[in-house]
Amino acid sequence: MNIVLESFDYIIVGQGIAGSCLAIRLLDIGKRILVIDQPERNSSSRIAAGMFNPVTGQKMVRTWLADELFPTLHSFYRGVEQSTQSRCLYDVPLYRPFISVEEQNEWMGRSVDPIYTNFIDQVFTSPNFAHVKNPYGGLLLKQCGYLDTRAFISAVSGRIRREGVLRHEHFDDARLSPIGDGVQYGEVNAKRIIFCQGVHENRWFDWLPVRPLKGETISIQSPFREQVILNRGVYILPSDSAGRQRIGSTYNVQDKEAAITLTARMELEEKASGLVDFSIQTVDHQWGWRPTSPDRRPMLGAHPEQQSLIVFNGLGTKGISLAPYFSLVLTRWMENHKPLNKEVDIERFKSLYWKSPK
Ligand SMILES: Cc1cc2nc3c(=O)[nH]c(=O)nc-3n(C[C@H](O)[C@H](O)[C@H](O)COP(=O)(O)OP(=O)(O)OC[C@H]3O[C@@H](n4cnc5c(N)ncnc54)[C@H](O)[C@@H]3O)c2cc1C
Repeated sequence: MNIVLESFDYIIVGQGIAGSCLAIRLLDIGKRILVIDQPERNSSSRIAAGMFNPVTGQKMVRTWLADELFPTLHSFYRGVEQSTQSRCLYDVPLYRPFISVEEQNEWMGRSVDPIYTNFIDQVFTSPNFAHVKNPYGGLLLKQCGYLDTRAFISAVSGRIRREGVLRHEHFDDARLSPIGDGVQYGEVNAKRIIFCQGVHENRWFDWLPVRPLKGETISIQSPFREQVILNRGVYILPSDSAGRQRIGSTYNVQDKEAAITLTARMELEEKASGLVDFSIQTVDHQWGWRPTSPDRRPMLGAHPEQQSLIVFNGLGTKGISLAPYFSLVLTRWMENHKPLNKEVDIERFKSLYWKSPK
């Protein structure tokens, strides 16, 4: 028989972007939390370039919920910087060179459309940056930037250690039992447990369609020193203190190999060469799995038969902008019974994938 030594309001499994944002939300309202995470070199959050951009995709459209996600993102990450005395959020504009006069004209038109005015800084009709292939000028977007994800996770770990408990170990779901209105995990009990495990499964939520999408990035040594993100086919982040720039990312559903590939490196080098005029010399190369969902929306909610078991996953390709907002939505749902948005509630997958063991 287990002797219960310690009680928590919440156990969080996984401290990537999802678990980190949720931990901060819960600490901010005075909850007692235990976070269990086995840090992995290739976890999505540690590999991510950390970029956020409200106008995305091949057609460059305003992203889903941009008006809610982007103000929340800024206030949230700045708040974490303040409460942890650290630096992780970098607001930098994003520059997308035009490839034709037609595209230039199209954006001149869109720049007065109220849907885009909050996000467009300037439309350039002639070359604006040295070292960038931009003969037709380009579009400069605001409310963009990147999060140094490792610095963020490390800052959050520090705060969890000060105000809660952080264990760097493997979470073994065989040791978890729902008991009454809560859960017991080994010698610990809690009112709820929230699984923020990315692509890693656990037996309670293995029916959810979290699909790994492999991504690779490279880093180069470069002469480009402007504080701007370049984006066309690939993105190139501003250089770090060592003069290195991250270039990403590939998207490969078929590739299941846990390793970097020459194909991805060549793809990134070739696309980057189409964007800048200096030679691309790769000095580092990384890979990771993004936890995606079939409808590209996050997955939030309780287990169909065990209300104390909760999931926060499916952040896909946009975890940096989704996690601050949806960690708040999840917290309000758990603490204040505010309903979950149907688009993110895991209820939407229940009739398709869930089979009760009874
Ligand atoms: C190459 C690449 C580039 C990307 N670039 C961007 C970008 O520019 N902008 C953007 O918004 N998003 C980007 N993403 C996507 C982003 O990384 C994800 O949306 C986000 O990191 C998902 O975070 P998560 O916390 O849900 O999962 P994860 O980061 O996978 O975190 C899960 C954590 O849970 C832990 N864990 C799992 N199971 C257990 C267990 N049993 N016991 C203990 N610990 C456990 C893992 O070790 C890990 O630490 C990129 C992803 C990749 C791969």
